[in-house]
Amino acid sequence: MSMKCSKCGEPAVYLRRYTNERLCVSCLVKTTQDRVRKTINRYALLKEDDRIVVAISGGKDSAVLLDVLTRIESGFSRSEIIPLLIDEGIEGYRDRAREAAKKLADSLGHDLIVRTFSQYFGMSLDEMMTKRAAESPGACSYCGVFRRRALNEAARELKGDVLATGHILDDEAQTIVMNILRGDTRRMGRTNTPREETVEGFVPRIKPLIQLSERDIVAYTHFLKLPYHDVPCPYASEAYRNDIREFLNEMEYKRPGTLLAILHSGEAISDAFRGEASDDTAGTCLRCGELTTGKLCKVCSMLQDLRGET
Ligand code: SF4
Ligand code: ZN
Repeated sequence: MSMKCSKCGEPAVYLRRYTNERLCVSCLVKTTQDRVRKTINRYALLKEDDRIVVAISGGKDSAVLLDVLTRIESGFSRSEIIPLLIDEGIEGYRDRAREAAKKLADSLGHDLIVRTFSQYFGMSLDEMMTKRAAESPGACSYCGVFRRRALNEAARELKGDVLATGHILDDEAQTIVMNILRGDTRRMGRTNTPREETVEGFVPRIKPLIQLSERDIVAYTHFLKLPYHDVPCPYASEAYRNDIREFLNEMEYKRPGTLLAILHSGEAISDAFRGEASDDTAGTCLRCGELTTGKLCKVCSMLQDLRGET
């Protein structure tokens, strides 16, 4: 691409299609950080003295998250960044991603905090998979439920004010479209809440990268040479999401800006359905005391099944 950067005139290396900007390396880095800063301001995601626990997976999305937040927060002397990795115990996968995460955290001057499924639940995801009954849901259902709990527990132990996750525009748009296609109004009322209203005992979650696309992330990690691990999880089986991703990528290619339009529609839908999600938390789990609608929370009932208790 022998084009010139639309910002400064230097040779461009990247075309951000949805804003129609041709960017050189330093303007790519700068505008990426600006987009995150804008997202933070638009939704009032951060306060000046926040302890920000940053969920790191070892993959590229959360690598960009940690890098950008570190740069942005270096201007706020009273805030603090704590990178946290939850190791589910998936052999040959998360152990390697963990090495990449450690390298990244070190290079940015942070100590990586690691917590494991074994510490919190007495078994790794690999062990859960050998113990579950034949008719049980897939690995990702367990992984999602337990990771959510582990992240919250750890963020609470670390006295985090917020928990930042690396969800990007593509993820959010896919989730919104999936919820619409399934008619899942409860979920629609829950996704895209800006700085999730604090429920007692819940560390609010923020998603500072939702206005960055997958292509932006790939370009940023490439030009800043951020370490990350990019091999798919051996349990990955998101056939439905993959179909949606393909369909949305095609739309985005033909009509740049489609993903952002979906994100904004999702916010409007979310506002309209917010009430439906609020009576979600009727009581507390008999075993662990966490909020739940039934007698046992999802974590405890899954653990009960895995241990063969009734
Ligand atoms: Fe967990 Fe599924 Fe993701 Fe693997 S693909 S890390 S099992 S949620
Ligand atoms: Zn419970």
